[in-house]
Amino acid sequence: MSGIFAVSSNENIIDDLFLGTFYLQHRGQQYCGISTFDGSSLKIRTHRGLVRETFSLDLAGLDGKVGIGHTSLKDRQPLKLDSKMGEFTICFEGNIINKDDLISKLKKEGHSFYTDTDIEVIAKLIAQGDDFVDGIQRMAGKVRGAYALVLLSRGKIYAARDKHAFRPMVIGRKNGAVVVTSESCSFVNLGFSIERDVKPGEILEIDGPNLETRKIIPSSFTQYCSFEWVYTANVASTIDGLSVDIARRNLGVALARRYPVKVDIVAAVPNSGIGHAIGYAQESKLPFDNVFIKYDYASRSYTQPTQAERDREAKVKLIPVPAKIEGRSVVICDDSIVRGTQMKNDLVVKLRKNGVKEIHVRVACPPLKAPCLYGVATRSKAELAAHQKSVEEIRQYIATDGLAFNTLEDLGEALGKPLNQICVSCWTDEYKV
Ligand code: SF4
Repeated sequence: MSGIFAVSSNENIIDDLFLGTFYLQHRGQQYCGISTFDGSSLKIRTHRGLVRETFSLDLAGLDGKVGIGHTSLKDRQPLKLDSKMGEFTICFEGNIINKDDLISKLKKEGHSFYTDTDIEVIAKLIAQGDDFVDGIQRMAGKVRGAYALVLLSRGKIYAARDKHAFRPMVIGRKNGAVVVTSESCSFVNLGFSIERDVKPGEILEIDGPNLETRKIIPSSFTQYCSFEWVYTANVASTIDGLSVDIARRNLGVALARRYPVKVDIVAAVPNSGIGHAIGYAQESKLPFDNVFIKYDYASRSYTQPTQAERDREAKVKLIPVPAKIEGRSVVICDDSIVRGTQMKNDLVVKLRKNGVKEIHVRVACPPLKAPCLYGVATRSKAELAAHQKSVEEIRQYIATDGLAFNTLEDLGEALGKPLNQICVSCWTDEYKV
Protein backbone atom coordinates (compact mmCIF):
# COMPACT_ATOMS: atom_id res chain seq x y z
CA MET A 1 0.00 0.00 0.00
CA SER A 2 1.20 3.54 -0.66
CA GLY A 3 0.16 7.16 -0.86
CA ILE A 4 0.94 9.60 -3.67
CA PHE A 5 0.86 13.38 -3.57
CA ALA A 6 1.57 15.90 -6.34
CA VAL A 7 1.37 19.68 -6.13
CA SER A 8 1.90 22.42 -8.69
CA SER A 9 1.73 26.15 -8.00
CA ASN A 10 2.87 29.65 -8.91
CA GLU A 11 4.77 29.72 -5.60
CA ASN A 12 7.20 27.55 -3.65
CA ILE A 13 5.42 24.28 -2.79
CA ILE A 14 7.87 22.65 -0.41
CA ASP A 15 5.75 23.16 2.74
CA ASP A 16 2.59 21.85 1.06
CA LEU A 17 4.51 18.94 -0.44
CA PHE A 18 6.07 17.95 2.87
CA LEU A 19 2.80 18.19 4.83
CA GLY A 20 0.67 16.63 2.08
CA THR A 21 3.00 13.63 1.95
CA PHE A 22 3.00 13.47 5.76
CA TYR A 23 -0.81 13.32 5.79
CA LEU A 24 -0.58 10.12 3.70
CA GLN A 25 1.56 8.37 6.32
CA HIS A 26 -1.27 5.95 7.16
CA ARG A 27 -0.92 4.46 3.65
CA GLY A 28 2.68 3.33 4.23
CA GLN A 29 5.26 3.69 6.98
CA GLN A 30 8.38 1.93 5.68
CA TYR A 31 9.70 4.39 3.08
CA CYS A 32 8.99 7.92 1.94
CA GLY A 33 10.26 10.19 -0.80
CA ILE A 34 9.99 13.63 -2.36
CA SER A 35 10.99 15.01 -5.76
CA THR A 36 10.86 18.65 -6.90
CA PHE A 37 11.80 20.73 -9.92
CA ASP A 38 13.58 23.99 -9.10
CA GLY A 39 13.33 25.55 -12.57
CA SER A 40 16.49 23.94 -13.89
CA SER A 41 16.88 20.44 -12.46
CA LEU A 42 14.98 17.58 -10.85
CA LYS A 43 15.76 16.88 -7.22
CA ILE A 44 14.94 13.60 -5.53
CA ARG A 45 15.35 12.36 -1.95
CA THR A 46 14.04 9.16 -0.33
CA HIS A 47 14.26 7.78 3.21
CA ARG A 48 13.55 4.64 5.15
CA GLY A 49 11.12 5.64 7.91
CA LEU A 50 8.39 8.17 8.58
CA VAL A 51 7.96 11.45 6.68
CA ARG A 52 8.08 13.76 9.68
CA GLU A 53 11.02 12.05 11.37
CA THR A 54 13.14 11.82 8.23
CA PHE A 55 12.26 14.94 6.23
CA SER A 56 11.54 17.67 8.80
CA LEU A 57 15.27 18.46 9.06
CA ASP A 58 16.11 17.38 5.54
CA LEU A 59 14.20 19.66 3.17
CA ALA A 60 17.12 21.95 2.29
CA GLY A 61 17.69 22.16 -1.45
CA LEU A 62 14.25 20.80 -2.35
CA ASP A 63 12.54 24.12 -3.06
CA GLY A 64 10.48 24.45 -6.24
CA LYS A 65 7.05 25.29 -7.63
CA VAL A 66 6.17 21.73 -8.48
CA GLY A 67 6.77 18.39 -6.75
CA ILE A 68 5.64 14.85 -6.00
CA GLY A 69 5.74 12.80 -2.78
CA HIS A 70 5.27 9.17 -1.77
CA THR A 71 4.74 7.03 1.33
CA SER A 72 5.20 3.30 0.97
CA LEU A 73 5.00 -0.03 2.67
CA LYS A 74 7.37 -1.82 0.31
CA ASP A 75 9.82 0.27 -1.73
CA ARG A 76 11.55 3.61 -2.15
CA GLN A 77 9.86 6.01 -4.52
CA PRO A 78 9.92 8.32 -6.48
CA LEU A 79 12.19 6.70 -9.03
CA LYS A 80 14.27 8.85 -11.38
CA LEU A 81 14.88 7.89 -14.99
CA ASP A 82 16.49 9.59 -17.98
CA SER A 83 14.69 9.06 -21.28
CA LYS A 84 14.44 10.42 -24.81
CA MET A 85 11.83 12.84 -23.38
CA GLY A 86 14.30 14.01 -20.75
CA GLU A 87 14.67 13.21 -17.06
CA PHE A 88 11.59 12.38 -15.05
CA THR A 89 10.67 11.20 -11.57
CA ILE A 90 7.66 8.98 -10.95
CA CYS A 91 5.81 7.31 -8.08
CA PHE A 92 2.75 5.10 -7.99
CA GLU A 93 0.33 3.14 -5.89
CA GLY A 94 -1.06 -0.24 -6.93
CA ASN A 95 0.18 -3.61 -8.12
CA ILE A 96 1.23 -4.92 -11.52
CA ILE A 97 0.12 -8.55 -11.70
CA ASN A 98 1.98 -9.39 -14.92
CA LYS A 99 5.23 -7.71 -13.83
CA ASP A 100 7.43 -10.79 -14.32
CA ASP A 101 6.22 -11.30 -17.92
CA LEU A 102 6.77 -7.61 -18.68
CA ILE A 103 10.29 -7.67 -17.22
CA SER A 104 11.31 -10.68 -19.29
CA LYS A 105 9.85 -9.12 -22.47
CA LEU A 106 11.67 -5.84 -21.79
CA LYS A 107 14.93 -7.69 -21.14
CA LYS A 108 14.57 -9.45 -24.49
CA GLU A 109 14.18 -6.00 -26.07
CA GLY A 110 17.52 -5.01 -24.55
CA HIS A 111 16.45 -3.23 -21.35
CA SER A 112 18.40 -3.73 -18.14
CA PHE A 113 16.82 -3.57 -14.70
CA TYR A 114 18.21 -2.09 -11.52
CA THR A 115 15.39 -3.55 -9.36
CA ASP A 116 12.44 -5.88 -9.89
CA THR A 117 9.92 -3.33 -8.64
CA ASP A 118 6.61 -2.41 -10.25
CA ILE A 119 7.65 1.23 -10.48
CA GLU A 120 10.73 0.45 -12.58
CA VAL A 121 8.61 -1.57 -15.02
CA ILE A 122 6.02 1.22 -15.24
CA ALA A 123 8.72 3.88 -15.73
CA LYS A 124 10.46 1.90 -18.49
CA LEU A 125 7.18 1.25 -20.32
CA ILE A 126 6.26 4.95 -20.15
CA ALA A 127 9.73 5.92 -21.40
CA GLN A 128 8.99 4.07 -24.66
CA GLY A 129 6.30 6.60 -25.58
CA ASP A 130 6.57 9.49 -28.04
CA ASP A 131 5.65 11.79 -25.16
CA PHE A 132 4.53 11.21 -21.57
CA VAL A 133 0.82 10.99 -22.38
CA ASP A 134 1.53 8.51 -25.16
CA GLY A 135 3.90 6.61 -22.84
CA ILE A 136 1.28 6.33 -20.08
CA GLN A 137 -1.27 5.16 -22.63
CA ARG A 138 1.11 2.52 -23.99
CA MET A 139 1.97 1.39 -20.45
CA ALA A 140 -1.75 1.12 -19.62
CA GLY A 141 -2.24 -1.14 -22.65
CA LYS A 142 0.41 -3.58 -21.38
CA VAL A 143 -0.03 -3.83 -17.62
CA ARG A 144 -2.60 -5.97 -15.82
CA GLY A 145 -3.48 -4.67 -12.39
CA ALA A 146 -4.08 -1.40 -10.61
CA TYR A 147 -2.26 1.91 -10.64
CA ALA A 148 -2.54 5.54 -9.68
CA LEU A 149 0.60 7.45 -10.65
CA VAL A 150 2.17 10.90 -10.73
CA LEU A 151 5.13 11.82 -12.93
CA LEU A 152 7.26 14.99 -12.81
CA SER A 153 9.26 16.29 -15.75
CA ARG A 154 10.48 19.75 -16.77
CA GLY A 155 8.16 21.51 -14.38
CA LYS A 156 5.03 19.64 -15.46
CA ILE A 157 3.14 16.88 -13.66
CA TYR A 158 1.34 14.02 -15.37
CA ALA A 159 -1.17 12.05 -13.31
CA ALA A 160 -3.04 8.90 -14.27
CA ARG A 161 -5.54 6.47 -12.76
CA ASP A 162 -6.14 3.01 -14.18
CA LYS A 163 -9.28 2.50 -16.22
CA HIS A 164 -11.01 0.49 -13.48
CA ALA A 165 -10.14 3.10 -10.81
CA PHE A 166 -9.06 0.57 -8.18
CA ARG A 167 -6.94 3.04 -6.26
CA PRO A 168 -8.35 6.40 -5.13
CA MET A 169 -7.14 9.65 -6.68
CA VAL A 170 -8.57 13.09 -6.05
CA ILE A 171 -7.91 16.64 -7.29
CA GLY A 172 -7.80 19.60 -4.89
CA ARG A 173 -7.45 23.29 -5.58
CA LYS A 174 -6.67 26.57 -3.85
CA ASN A 175 -5.79 29.98 -5.26
CA GLY A 176 -2.98 29.49 -7.76
CA ALA A 177 -2.25 25.84 -6.87
CA VAL A 178 -3.53 22.37 -7.67
CA VAL A 179 -2.95 18.95 -6.03
CA VAL A 180 -3.56 15.38 -7.18
CA THR A 181 -3.35 12.85 -4.37
CA SER A 182 -4.51 9.51 -3.01
CA GLU A 183 -6.81 11.03 -0.39
CA SER A 184 -8.43 14.37 0.34
CA CYS A 185 -7.36 14.20 4.02
CA SER A 186 -3.87 15.11 2.76
CA PHE A 187 -4.84 18.61 1.61
CA VAL A 188 -7.70 20.04 3.71
CA ASN A 189 -5.36 21.49 6.36
CA LEU A 190 -3.28 23.06 3.57
CA GLY A 191 -6.22 25.18 2.41
CA PHE A 192 -7.20 23.10 -0.62
CA SER A 193 -10.79 22.06 -1.39
CA ILE A 194 -11.90 19.01 -3.32
CA GLU A 195 -12.40 19.81 -7.01
CA ARG A 196 -13.26 16.29 -8.18
CA ASP A 197 -11.97 12.73 -8.33
CA VAL A 198 -9.67 11.69 -11.14
CA LYS A 199 -11.88 9.77 -13.58
CA PRO A 200 -11.30 6.09 -14.36
CA GLY A 201 -8.66 5.89 -17.10
CA GLU A 202 -7.96 9.64 -17.05
CA ILE A 203 -4.52 11.05 -17.90
CA LEU A 204 -3.96 14.61 -16.67
CA GLU A 205 -1.32 17.18 -17.52
CA ILE A 206 -0.66 19.88 -14.93
CA ASP A 207 1.28 23.03 -15.73
CA GLY A 208 1.45 25.61 -12.92
CA PRO A 209 -2.07 25.87 -11.51
CA ASN A 210 -3.61 24.68 -14.81
CA LEU A 211 -4.90 21.16 -15.19
CA GLU A 212 -5.97 19.53 -18.45
CA THR A 213 -7.45 16.12 -19.25
CA ARG A 214 -5.24 14.76 -22.04
CA LYS A 215 -6.85 11.37 -22.46
CA ILE A 216 -9.43 9.01 -21.00
CA ILE A 217 -8.79 5.30 -21.51
CA PRO A 218 -12.25 3.74 -21.77
CA SER A 219 -13.56 0.76 -19.82
CA SER A 220 -17.01 -0.83 -19.52
CA PHE A 221 -16.77 -1.21 -15.73
CA THR A 222 -15.14 0.29 -12.61
CA GLN A 223 -13.64 -1.54 -9.63
CA TYR A 224 -13.38 1.05 -6.84
CA CYS A 225 -11.68 -0.69 -3.91
CA SER A 226 -14.38 -1.24 -1.25
CA PHE A 227 -11.76 -1.83 1.42
CA GLU A 228 -10.72 1.85 1.21
CA TRP A 229 -14.01 2.84 2.88
CA VAL A 230 -14.00 -0.13 5.27
CA TYR A 231 -10.44 0.25 6.58
CA THR A 232 -7.63 1.65 4.44
CA ALA A 233 -8.48 5.32 3.96
CA ASN A 234 -8.38 8.04 6.58
CA VAL A 235 -11.79 8.71 8.11
CA ALA A 236 -11.57 12.41 7.12
CA SER A 237 -11.26 11.58 3.41
CA THR A 238 -13.95 11.58 0.76
CA ILE A 239 -13.36 8.96 -1.92
CA ASP A 240 -15.20 8.94 -5.23
CA GLY A 241 -17.91 11.12 -3.78
CA LEU A 242 -18.46 9.15 -0.56
CA SER A 243 -17.19 10.26 2.85
CA VAL A 244 -15.22 7.47 4.55
CA ASP A 245 -16.80 8.43 7.88
CA ILE A 246 -20.34 8.20 6.49
CA ALA A 247 -19.55 4.88 4.79
CA ARG A 248 -18.31 3.41 8.09
CA ARG A 249 -21.42 4.58 9.95
CA ASN A 250 -23.62 3.08 7.21
CA LEU A 251 -21.80 -0.23 7.65
CA GLY A 252 -22.40 -0.09 11.42
CA VAL A 253 -26.08 0.70 10.86
CA ALA A 254 -26.39 -2.32 8.54
CA LEU A 255 -24.81 -4.55 11.20
CA ALA A 256 -27.21 -3.27 13.87
CA ARG A 257 -30.24 -3.90 11.64
CA ARG A 258 -29.25 -7.39 10.59
CA TYR A 259 -27.60 -8.58 13.80
CA PRO A 260 -29.15 -6.86 16.86
CA VAL A 261 -28.14 -8.09 20.32
CA LYS A 262 -29.07 -7.09 23.88
CA VAL A 263 -25.92 -5.72 25.51
CA ASP A 264 -24.89 -2.89 27.87
CA ILE A 265 -22.55 -1.02 25.53
CA VAL A 266 -21.24 -0.78 21.98
CA ALA A 267 -17.46 -0.42 21.64
CA ALA A 268 -14.87 -0.30 18.86
CA VAL A 269 -11.55 -1.84 18.04
CA PRO A 270 -9.86 1.55 17.62
CA ASN A 271 -9.26 3.38 15.44
CA SER A 272 -10.71 1.87 12.30
CA GLY A 273 -13.68 0.25 14.09
CA ILE A 274 -14.88 3.52 15.65
CA GLY A 275 -17.09 4.72 12.77
CA HIS A 276 -18.68 1.27 12.47
CA ALA A 277 -19.33 1.16 16.23
CA ILE A 278 -20.90 4.65 16.28
CA GLY A 279 -23.24 3.60 13.45
CA TYR A 280 -24.14 0.42 15.33
CA ALA A 281 -24.77 2.34 18.58
CA GLN A 282 -26.90 5.02 16.92
CA GLU A 283 -29.06 2.50 15.08
CA SER A 284 -29.51 0.18 18.08
CA LYS A 285 -29.94 3.10 20.55
CA LEU A 286 -27.26 1.66 22.82
CA PRO A 287 -24.50 3.74 24.45
CA PHE A 288 -21.12 3.88 22.75
CA ASP A 289 -18.16 3.57 25.13
CA ASN A 290 -14.42 2.93 25.05
CA VAL A 291 -13.25 -0.47 26.19
CA PHE A 292 -9.90 -0.07 24.40
CA ILE A 293 -7.76 2.99 23.78
CA LYS A 294 -5.29 2.97 20.93
CA TYR A 295 -1.92 4.21 22.10
CA ASP A 296 -1.12 7.23 19.93
CA TYR A 297 2.47 6.23 19.24
CA ALA A 298 1.73 2.72 17.97
CA SER A 299 1.70 2.01 14.21
CA ARG A 300 -1.07 0.56 12.09
CA SER A 301 -0.85 -3.21 12.61
CA TYR A 302 -2.37 -4.11 9.22
CA THR A 303 0.32 -2.19 7.38
CA GLN A 304 3.39 -3.70 9.02
CA PRO A 305 5.48 -5.67 6.49
CA THR A 306 5.88 -9.00 8.34
CA GLN A 307 3.47 -11.14 10.37
CA ALA A 308 5.75 -11.05 13.42
CA GLU A 309 5.80 -7.22 13.30
CA ARG A 310 2.03 -7.10 12.81
CA ASP A 311 1.45 -9.40 15.81
CA ARG A 312 3.79 -7.41 18.03
CA GLU A 313 2.28 -4.06 17.01
CA ALA A 314 -1.29 -5.36 17.44
CA LYS A 315 -0.51 -6.44 21.01
CA VAL A 316 1.16 -3.16 21.89
CA LYS A 317 -1.37 -0.75 20.44
CA LEU A 318 -4.58 -1.46 22.41
CA ILE A 319 -4.84 -0.67 26.12
CA PRO A 320 -7.99 -1.89 27.92
CA VAL A 321 -10.06 0.49 30.07
CA PRO A 322 -10.96 -1.72 33.08
CA ALA A 323 -13.66 0.60 34.49
CA LYS A 324 -15.67 0.28 31.27
CA ILE A 325 -15.38 -3.50 30.97
CA GLU A 326 -16.06 -5.16 34.33
CA GLY A 327 -19.51 -6.74 34.63
CA ARG A 328 -20.72 -5.42 31.25
CA SER A 329 -21.86 -7.18 28.12
CA VAL A 330 -20.26 -5.64 25.03
CA VAL A 331 -20.77 -5.50 21.28
CA ILE A 332 -17.36 -4.75 19.83
CA CYS A 333 -17.13 -3.57 16.19
CA ASP A 334 -14.08 -4.16 14.02
CA ASP A 335 -13.37 -3.34 10.37
CA SER A 336 -12.37 -6.90 9.40
CA ILE A 337 -11.00 -10.20 10.69
CA VAL A 338 -7.86 -11.36 8.91
CA ARG A 339 -6.46 -14.35 10.80
CA GLY A 340 -8.45 -13.88 14.00
CA THR A 341 -5.33 -14.23 16.12
CA GLN A 342 -5.41 -10.62 17.37
CA MET A 343 -9.03 -11.03 18.45
CA LYS A 344 -8.34 -14.40 20.10
CA ASN A 345 -4.93 -13.79 21.71
CA ASP A 346 -5.18 -10.12 22.56
CA LEU A 347 -8.63 -8.47 22.62
CA VAL A 348 -10.66 -11.34 24.05
CA VAL A 349 -7.96 -12.16 26.61
CA LYS A 350 -7.82 -8.52 27.78
CA LEU A 351 -11.63 -8.26 27.98
CA ARG A 352 -12.00 -11.54 29.95
CA LYS A 353 -9.15 -10.62 32.28
CA ASN A 354 -10.99 -7.40 33.09
CA GLY A 355 -14.27 -9.16 33.95
CA VAL A 356 -16.39 -8.66 30.82
CA LYS A 357 -19.81 -10.40 31.02
CA GLU A 358 -20.35 -11.17 27.31
CA ILE A 359 -18.46 -10.39 24.10
CA HIS A 360 -20.30 -10.10 20.78
CA VAL A 361 -18.22 -9.19 17.74
CA ARG A 362 -19.65 -7.38 14.70
CA VAL A 363 -17.45 -7.06 11.60
CA ALA A 364 -17.99 -4.29 9.04
CA CYS A 365 -17.11 -6.34 5.96
CA PRO A 366 -17.90 -9.92 4.90
CA PRO A 367 -15.41 -12.70 5.82
CA LEU A 368 -12.06 -12.09 4.05
CA LYS A 369 -11.46 -15.12 1.83
CA ALA A 370 -8.86 -14.14 -0.76
CA PRO A 371 -5.70 -12.05 -1.19
CA CYS A 372 -5.70 -8.61 -2.80
CA LEU A 373 -4.03 -8.52 -6.22
CA TYR A 374 -4.41 -4.76 -6.55
CA GLY A 375 -1.93 -3.29 -4.11
CA VAL A 376 -3.52 -3.29 -0.65
CA ALA A 377 -2.02 -6.32 1.11
CA THR A 378 0.03 -9.34 0.18
CA ARG A 379 -1.53 -12.05 2.35
CA SER A 380 -1.83 -15.60 1.16
CA LYS A 381 -5.14 -17.44 1.27
CA ALA A 382 -3.82 -19.76 3.94
CA GLU A 383 -3.44 -16.83 6.36
CA LEU A 384 -7.11 -15.84 6.18
CA ALA A 385 -9.37 -17.34 8.85
CA ALA A 386 -12.46 -17.33 6.64
CA HIS A 387 -10.68 -19.20 3.86
CA GLN A 388 -10.74 -22.39 5.95
CA LYS A 389 -13.38 -21.75 8.63
CA SER A 390 -17.12 -21.06 8.74
CA VAL A 391 -18.38 -18.07 10.77
CA GLU A 392 -19.31 -20.41 13.63
CA GLU A 393 -15.85 -22.03 13.54
CA ILE A 394 -14.23 -18.56 13.65
CA ARG A 395 -16.45 -17.64 16.63
CA GLN A 396 -15.31 -20.77 18.44
CA TYR A 397 -11.68 -20.05 17.53
CA ILE A 398 -11.76 -16.49 18.87
CA ALA A 399 -13.85 -17.66 21.85
CA THR A 400 -16.56 -14.97 21.89
CA ASP A 401 -20.27 -15.25 22.72
CA GLY A 402 -21.35 -14.00 19.30
CA LEU A 403 -19.88 -13.12 15.89
CA ALA A 404 -21.48 -11.71 12.74
CA PHE A 405 -20.20 -10.15 9.49
CA ASN A 406 -21.88 -7.72 7.12
CA THR A 407 -23.21 -9.34 3.94
CA LEU A 408 -21.90 -8.38 0.50
CA GLU A 409 -25.30 -6.88 -0.35
CA ASP A 410 -25.25 -4.72 2.81
CA LEU A 411 -21.70 -3.63 1.95
CA GLY A 412 -22.76 -2.46 -1.52
CA GLU A 413 -25.80 -0.68 -0.10
CA ALA A 414 -23.75 1.04 2.62
CA LEU A 415 -21.35 2.34 -0.06
CA GLY A 416 -24.22 3.35 -2.33
CA LYS A 417 -22.61 1.63 -5.31
CA PRO A 418 -23.72 -1.34 -7.44
CA LEU A 419 -21.73 -4.48 -6.56
CA ASN A 420 -20.57 -4.88 -10.17
CA GLN A 421 -18.90 -1.43 -10.07
CA ILE A 422 -16.80 -1.97 -6.90
CA CYS A 423 -14.02 -4.44 -6.20
CA VAL A 424 -15.14 -7.14 -3.77
CA SER A 425 -12.51 -9.74 -4.72
CA CYS A 426 -11.18 -10.19 -1.18
CA TRP A 427 -14.59 -11.53 -0.17
CA THR A 428 -15.63 -13.40 -3.33
CA ASP A 429 -12.24 -14.81 -4.43
CA GLU A 430 -13.19 -13.80 -7.98
CA TYR A 431 -11.02 -11.34 -9.89
CA LYS A 432 -12.43 -9.31 -12.78
CA VAL A 433 -9.03 -7.95 -13.85
FE1 SF4 B 1 -9.69 -3.56 -2.35
FE2 SF4 B 1 -10.05 -6.12 -1.65
FE3 SF4 B 1 -10.29 -5.38 -4.18
FE4 SF4 B 1 -7.89 -5.38 -3.00
S1 SF4 B 1 -9.18 -7.19 -3.45
S2 SF4 B 1 -8.71 -3.79 -4.36
S3 SF4 B 1 -8.43 -4.75 -0.92
S4 SF4 B 1 -11.59 -4.74 -2.45
